Formats: sequence, structure tokens, C-alpha cells
Amino acid sequence: MINGRTRLFGILGNPVAHSLSPALHNAAFKECRINAVYVPLAASDLEAALAGIKAFSFAGVSVTVPHKVAIMPLLDAIDPVAEKIGAVNTLVFKRKADGRLHCTGLNTDWIGANASLAEAIRLSGASALILGAGGAARAVAFGLQEAGVRVLIHNRSEDRGRKLATQLDCPYLTANELHDLRAEILVNATSVGMEPETDAIPLEADLLSNFQVVMDIVYAPVETRLLREAAARGCKTVPGTNMLLYQATAQWRLWLGEEAPVEVMRAALTEGLSRQQE
Ligand code: NDP
Repeated sequence: MINGRTRLFGILGNPVAHSLSPALHNAAFKECRINAVYVPLAASDLEAALAGIKAFSFAGVSVTVPHKVAIMPLLDAIDPVAEKIGAVNTLVFKRKADGRLHCTGLNTDWIGANASLAEAIRLSGASALILGAGGAARAVAFGLQEAGVRVLIHNRSEDRGRKLATQLDCPYLTANELHDLRAEILVNATSVGMEPETDAIPLEADLLSNFQVVMDIVYAPVETRLLREAAARGCKTVPGTNMLLYQATAQWRLWLGEEAPVEVMRAALTEGLSRQQE
């Protein structure tokens, strides 16, 4: 029941109609009988949107495309890992003694990626090849470094890949150098394999046996060709839906200070994805 005491949460982006986050968070509120609602907040004027969010005393907000970078200068504080990644996807609000609402920006994409991989392998001391140099690759790469993983980067556009590797202070590998690499973890952080081009694969299938664990952050389809080929070669596989789910459960922890009902959120995600595919 929405009433005068309902706490407000939402997702700020443009567009946001496709987002599965409302389904995940609202299912969790219902399960835990929390008087709260999570709503879509589609806006292009970021300053006005943030002023409105503060004016209505939102308890927590997710941030998505295209605002993850542009919102950073408007915030009161930024978490150090989000600062390195250069993007925030979560806003946490705290009322200060002077009555002002203080807004901190964090990034839970890396927490979601680390949690997904940690279910498959011990992260500290492992090495990981990350394919990609876009926003998601940055989150995965800086996050894995936080967990003590030795990161290596490869990207289609070499300049962009080398730039990221320099920021991470880690090696960049050319396409030829990939042939000789052995590493515990492979992460596809490119959009290759995403619907509708589900036949595409971001790395030669024959090289997949050089890795123990293969994670694809693409989540539509849930089982990508990369994951199928990796499983056929004996690798442990981690679907992108896990990262999506665990970045949301990390937001819940930040906003509510308690563990999220993960299986309820997983079911809402699965249902939302299959509805989108119909
Ligand atoms: P960006 O546009 O920022 O980056 C895209 C990356 O994919 C770049 O490295 C780009 O290389 C590479 N790429 C695109 N097309 C090709 C191609 N044909 N061949 C080789 N490389 C290619 O996107 P994001 O980083 O934001 O997102 C990447 C993917 O991650 C998307 O599919 C998105 O849905 C998914 N994602 C999943 C999340 C999850 O929770 N599971 C969270 C966030 C994103 P180049 O630099 O050469 O252009």
C-alpha cells in the first residue's frame, strides 16, 4: 500500500522505460514488507532532476545511461572506486545537521561483477583478461583490481584499450598476443554477442580453453554463444544476469543497510528478461 509514509526510490536516466530495476526492487520491497516504491525517473535536465529528487527526499536513486558520468560534478561526494571508474550508478542520501540532503555517488557495477566471479573462483591473486574498454569494462577492470586480480586488457580499438590499460597501470594485449595468454578468468565486457547478433563471439572459440572461468556481461540472451562455447571446453561460466542482479543487491545494502532478498530479485529479473524477449 502506498501511503503518506512511503519511501521513494527510483532510476534516473533517459530513456528508462526498458529498465528492469523497478521490477527487481519493487519485488524485494514487497517480499520484505518495506513501505517503499521504486519508480522510473526519465529526465534530460540533470540539474533540475537532482533538485527534484532532493526536494522530494528520495531515499535512494539508481543512475543509468546517459547520466552516469555527467551527474558526477553535481554530487556532494564520490566514492573512491567510482571516481577511478569515472561513472556512478547509485546515489545515497544523508540528511545533514543543517537540514541539507547530502548526496554521495557510488558504482555498484564492479561490486556486481566481483560478486558474480567470486562465486566461481578465488579472486585475490588470479589473473583476468578483460575484453573491452567502454563504461562496463572500466567498472569490471577497476573492480577486479580492488579485489587483488591481475588485470589485462584487450579492445577492438587499440587506442582506447591502451588508454584504459595505462589508467589501470596494467598490460595491454594485441590480438596476436592473446594466442599465448593463459589466465584464470576471461570477461567479455564488450557488447559482442548481444541480441540481435547472437551468433557473434568476442574471442576465437579455440582460445577459450586457456581460461578456467568465463564471464559474459552481456545478459540478453542469458546464454550467449561465448558462454556455450566456453562450457563446451570445460570452463566454468558466469552469465551477465548475475552481475545485473548483484549490482542491484549491492544498491539495496547501501540504501537499506541490510541484505536483499536475492532469490526474489533473481526471479523478478528472469521474468522481466523473458517478457522483454517475447
Ligand atoms: P560501451 O559502448 O561503453 O562499450 C562497448 C565496448 O564494446 C567497447 O569496448 C567496444 O569496442 C566494444 N565493441 C562493440 N562492438 C564491438 C565489435 N563488433 N567487436 C569488438 N568489440 C566491440 O558499452 P558498455 O561498456 O556500457 O556496455 C557493454 C556491454 O555490457 C553491453 O552489452 C551492456 O548491455 C553490457 N552491460 C552489462 C551489465 C551487467 O550488469 N551485466 C552492466 C553494464 C553493461 P570499441 O572501443 O572498439 O568501440
